[in-house]
Amino acid sequence: MIWVTQYLCPDRHALFALAWDDNEMSQASVEAEGEKMFTENGGPLNRWCELCGGAPHVEHQESLFQTMEEAMPTLKQVESENIRTRDFVLGMRN
Ligand SMILES: [Zn+2]
Repeated sequence: MIWVTQYLCPDRHALFALAWDDNEMSQASVEAEGEKMFTENGGPLNRWCELCGGAPHVEHQESLFQTMEEAMPTLKQVESENIRTRDFVLGMRN
């Protein structure tokens, strides 16, 4: 089963998300990898929402997909939409 883990602020803005296969990883190992995204662990992200300043929490949710190959077209589509949304929001700030 493919899962999606999101780091969400209280207003549910996603700082980032990870898709993973429960044949290869566990919720605990995904969270350990996710922690590496934050600056205090050498990663590129601050541990707060850039839109509202809220602190993130972690949510894990099963996807509708059994394999990463099956999930990939949808994941790529959502990624593309999220990049366009981020660029739009950042454009509004400048
Ligand atoms: Zn937020």
